[in-house]
Amino acid sequence: MKKSYFILLMIICIIIVFFMLKITLSQSTALKESLKMGDAIVYQKKGIAHHGKILSGKTIIIDPGHGGKDVGSTGQNGTLEKDITLITAKEIEKKLLEKTGATVILTREMDQTVSLQKRVEMAEEAKADFFLSVHYDAFFTHDVKGITCYYYKWKDKWAAKRMNEYLFNSGIKTKDRGVEKGDYYVLRENKKTSVLLELGYISNEEDEELMNSQVFQQQVAKAAVEAIIDYLGK
Ligand SMILES: [Zn+2]
Repeated sequence: MKKSYFILLMIICIIIVFFMLKITLSQSTALKESLKMGDAIVYQKKGIAHHGKILSGKTIIIDPGHGGKDVGSTGQNGTLEKDITLITAKEIEKKLLEKTGATVILTREMDQTVSLQKRVEMAEEAKADFFLSVHYDAFFTHDVKGITCYYYKWKDKWAAKRMNEYLFNSGIKTKDRGVEKGDYYVLRENKKTSVLLELGYISNEEDEELMNSQVFQQQVAKAAVEAIIDYLGK
């Protein structure tokens, strides 16, 4: 009897140890996943290369401005810049993948904090052919509206001009604020061709309404893709 009790006790011990090990292992996996989430994750997608593979072999970075702790500017009707930049970036990504065969990388794919330095490093690491940063503007008075296309380095002015032309040929109804030199980190510190779009004033009621429309988002995406093809596809 004593011996069988001992064996039973051993079996119970083995079962307990087994379950403890299992719990420890699953906890460490969860930790690994959350660490990965905390870091800027590189999302890389390859486009379906039909339509003559116009940009196959090219890598394009789309950079949705702000995110996570950095909200950006806030509209009168509650639009947050970090949310609307992500919507636009994903719309551009979708069109690029559909039309060009390019590899597309987003600097963030969710509401997360990514430093400006990291965003530029991603362009460098991916050997990007084009870096497009998406922002929405704000001003302390509510009357200012319109879209501005920024470049920093002289060599990138032509790319910014293409963006401006395609945006305003697409039928977008807001003020054309032209092409300007902008001292933005993601342009200044970027070795790759880089353009930053300020796609309307979140502080202006009409622009805010416009940027929240599906039509506008699609017009922007179409124009951005056409401008990138014009710039890289030759
Ligand atoms: Zn911004």
